[in-house]
Amino acid sequence: MKHYFLGMAQEYAGGEWLKHLLTVGRKRDLKNLENYLSKRYQGEAMLCKNGRSSLTLALKANFEPGDAVIVNGFTCYAVYEAVKEAGLTPIFADISREDLNFDIEKLNAILENSRVRGIIVQNTLGNPTDIGAIENLAEKYDLKIVEDLAHCAGVHYSDGREVGTVGVATVLSFGKEKSIDTVSGGAVIFRGEFLSNLGARPAGPSPRAAGATSRAAALRTPSDLIKTSPQKPPRPSDHLRARFYPMFGALTRTLTYVGIGGAVMRCLVKIHWVERSADNKLDTSRRCSKFEAKLALKQLKRLRKNGEAPIREFCFVHDRDKCLKELKRKGYYFGGFWYEKPVSPERYYKNVHFDEMNCQNACYVAEHIINLPIYYTRRDLTPALKIIKKYLEEEA
Ligand SMILES: *Cc1c(COP(=O)(O)O)cnc(C)c1O
Repeated sequence: MKHYFLGMAQEYAGGEWLKHLLTVGRKRDLKNLENYLSKRYQGEAMLCKNGRSSLTLALKANFEPGDAVIVNGFTCYAVYEAVKEAGLTPIFADISREDLNFDIEKLNAILENSRVRGIIVQNTLGNPTDIGAIENLAEKYDLKIVEDLAHCAGVHYSDGREVGTVGVATVLSFGKEKSIDTVSGGAVIFRGEFLSNLGARPAGPSPRAAGATSRAAALRTPSDLIKTSPQKPPRPSDHLRARFYPMFGALTRTLTYVGIGGAVMRCLVKIHWVERSADNKLDTSRRCSKFEAKLALKQLKRLRKNGEAPIREFCFVHDRDKCLKELKRKGYYFGGFWYEKPVSPERYYKNVHFDEMNCQNACYVAEHIINLPIYYTRRDLTPALKIIKKYLEEEA
């Protein structure tokens, strides 16, 4: 039987894992990536440990504790974690089944009825949001837009602007299966003028208004912050996990031929040599590894050259468990679909106290979605697509 091994670090197949293991990163790779990001996203970039840490910094820089921000009702727990870490109140807004982005009418209704300060736009699975509509609402209700590019680096909005060039801050994740994937890492690009809560400054009148010149006040611009408190290098254990994950993936895929790939992967997770993405810790004081910066820069440049960004195509199936089982029997392991709960993964969902009544589309989608990995060609997927077709939901 032919195995396709979807999942298990497949994006590093074909020798990529070896490159990942052997790439030597230098200090200038950090600088190069920062400069590139600052230019491409027209702001000031700071490299981070992962996407959720980047998002935390973006939010802390732009909102006051207690502020409410709109979050996509179909998202990753990492987003919720960052919002909470920044001391903000998440308001989940329901999505449209068409593109998995905000349902604009429902969004408008929320904004009419509650005081909200910001909105996180994520362009789910690489599908561009109707950014014009979001900007209109942002203007009307005085919201700051933060763009989360975990799914959508390189994508363009319908008016031609690239994602990440619209809001007050842009956040990237370089985590597993993200559109830029170096196993871990992330970046934030501050595009606004001032940081309100970062740095050591107590609450008070703005330094400009007060004409203050103290060091603490000077901390308020992104470049000052970046200069005065540079990110620490990653912990050695995190560095090693990022180095070896692609190799462990290659190993376990091979072992699948003798039927023990899954078990070996589970062992590696148990002894913490491999970390499940959702368990990656939030830590705003550290950056990614130098070799990750080097690889991320290459991928960003490649995205630009190719002109089109990967979109994870999706469809809705009935009886998803049965469909996944049948796929598995044919050698297609579709472990990593996004997402099986409105805020995924399932094991963290109960922490969220998600408002299911007001996010019914998100609930429907979480129950029925299958999305196709981006590291496969259509041709590789043809047999899988045939199986999926049998289970497709009739559109009501
Ligand atoms: C995965 C993800 C993140 C954060 O990624 P990490 O690097 O794992 O912290 C942020 N936003 C969205 C929408 C994601 O899917």
